[in-house]
Amino acid sequence: MDSPALRDALVRLAANHRWTWSYSLRNFWEKLDGGRLTRHPTVVVGEVSSEQLNDLLGDHEFMAMVTAEVAALDDMFGDGLVDPQIAYFSPEFGLSDVIPQYSGGLGILAGDHMKAASDLTLPLVGVGLFYRQGFFRQRIEDGRQAEDYPTFTAQSLGAQDTDVTVKVPLPGREVVARVWRMDVGRVRLLLLDTDVAENSAADRQITDRLYSGDRRHRLEQELVLGVGGVRALSALGWDVSVFHLNEGHAGFLVLELMERRGAGSNLAAAIEQVRPGLVFTTHTPVPAGIDRFEKRLILPYLEVWAHRWGVPVEEIWLLGADPVDGDRYFNMAALGLRLASGANGVSQMHGEVSRHLFAGVGIGDEITSVTNGVHARTWVSADTQAVFDRLLGDKWTIGDREAWDRVEILSDAAISGLRHIGALRLSELVSDRTGHTLDPDSLVVGFARRFATYKRATLLFHHMERLAAMLADDARPIHFVFAGKAHPADKPGKRLLAEVAAFSNSSVANGRFTFVPDYGIGIARVMYEGCDIWLNTPVRPREASGTSGEKAALNGGLNCSILDGWWAEMFDGRNGWAIATSDAADPARRDREEAAAALDTLDAIVAEYHGDPVAFVGRIRHAWRSLGPQVTAARMVAEYRDRIYTPALSRAR
Ligand SMILES: *Cc1c(COP(=O)(O)O)cnc(C)c1O
Repeated sequence: MDSPALRDALVRLAANHRWTWSYSLRNFWEKLDGGRLTRHPTVVVGEVSSEQLNDLLGDHEFMAMVTAEVAALDDMFGDGLVDPQIAYFSPEFGLSDVIPQYSGGLGILAGDHMKAASDLTLPLVGVGLFYRQGFFRQRIEDGRQAEDYPTFTAQSLGAQDTDVTVKVPLPGREVVARVWRMDVGRVRLLLLDTDVAENSAADRQITDRLYSGDRRHRLEQELVLGVGGVRALSALGWDVSVFHLNEGHAGFLVLELMERRGAGSNLAAAIEQVRPGLVFTTHTPVPAGIDRFEKRLILPYLEVWAHRWGVPVEEIWLLGADPVDGDRYFNMAALGLRLASGANGVSQMHGEVSRHLFAGVGIGDEITSVTNGVHARTWVSADTQAVFDRLLGDKWTIGDREAWDRVEILSDAAISGLRHIGALRLSELVSDRTGHTLDPDSLVVGFARRFATYKRATLLFHHMERLAAMLADDARPIHFVFAGKAHPADKPGKRLLAEVAAFSNSSVANGRFTFVPDYGIGIARVMYEGCDIWLNTPVRPREASGTSGEKAALNGGLNCSILDGWWAEMFDGRNGWAIATSDAADPARRDREEAAAALDTLDAIVAEYHGDPVAFVGRIRHAWRSLGPQVTAARMVAEYRDRIYTPALSRAR
């Protein structure tokens, strides 16, 4: 290899996001970036000088790594890429901590969906928006959350130019969007970006940030995503027949699809043509979490299409009219359910709740469920992966039951050893970021997620004396590690966060309750690795699924959670703990009772952890065996393939 060939090889390795789940590749970039990967590898490659390149050519170990990684990448493609037949639309994709194009669970799920689709060689393409400003970085200032928005270019996030632009009709104008492409193993992700010279200054800002600004901003983002996304697929010459809506945000894609199926001559017939290939996943049972637009805001945008098709705008309005407040709101979930031929919730319980919530709305009564899973190679620590690969074979990543049965051969010492490595790493993170000291031998309880109020981050504070006693117990030490961001506009969420941050610095916390700022994929990974217990205290049944507990479980963390979402169907009495729920109708009383139940459960856990370590380790082994086959994204995407996509593909043809 000469120096230009080496540069080309590095550029190729950086541009395919396989490095987001391959530790050997990640280590490779870390080596090149001075120890820690804090930027996208394309930026790292861009800074490699010619002299460095020459030095690297003489580094045999490094060159062997390049050759092996290039071969692994080539291997992945076998006979080359096939054109996608399924498009997965999502407003956010969480692929890596250095690509902050996500805000929370929905985006990370979308990222894991892409990665598992690549593993399974599904003919799938992702469609999203390119946000020049990443999701905010969090600082705690005067006890409150402060937000900074880092700025990126497409190149600095590893996106490549497709040379395609599309136009999206908005009232009185057409907005131009450039189409970027990110390669994720064997699948591609298209990202639309309105920051182009042809647009007005205001329109250039449409795709500036994830979930910010007012309702109009959001509406225009969703039109660019839905309508622009379909146009991008067709501009690239791809004949996609199944369209999967990851929540309602991209629902306007039906407008473009209907137009292509002849809405201008027969609206009802066009709808029937779109229906077979449209599938919809709902992610929230909380009505306030569903996207709705006020009539006076949205009508001019719908009129653009009414005018194109020569139909009264009321006919388009009715497709999304809110089931409860149908004169005032256009409801994106209702739109999805009225036009799709398949719909699902994200856990069994959420499916059931959704069937009630959407009863009578389109196919609302037929909502099925596909329980969320997580991408094993992305989320399991390097040390644990090495042990699993050696002892379980390579099928543990796809949830193979026989592979997971083999965890029985893992010795107590091997399990404790892995857990200890994780605890040390978390202890290091805690002291680096907060100055707190975390004793790796204490029972480490983690809680990290968005600070949405229903997740009740402050639940344990309802019985402060009990919590204080627990934190003061030197004979059986416990350490809580909390992290999470509140949405910038969520005032109650921000108040909870301020309470948690204040408590962590109080004398009552006794140095054993730490809030780690700037939660994101990077911090989450260290927490999954290092926490013994993963705590989750949502108001049931609002969690829909939740996935952080699945990531903790794959790393050997035990769940202690309200029986909601994925946990309600996978808890078996021994693979973790269930926090008893209260039937009190009064929310304040329910919270007090569930807080007491959570503390009771934690008391029992501390006693077992310090009193009977063999039982505790046995539980970890059992949890792996029972949960490993159920919580992977490979299981989830295979279910989407078999139960949702394949039937939709045959209907659509
Ligand atoms: C997994 C994950 C989430 C989702 O967590 P929930 O359990 O759904 O609350 C959110 N943020 C990050 C960074 C994650 O890794």
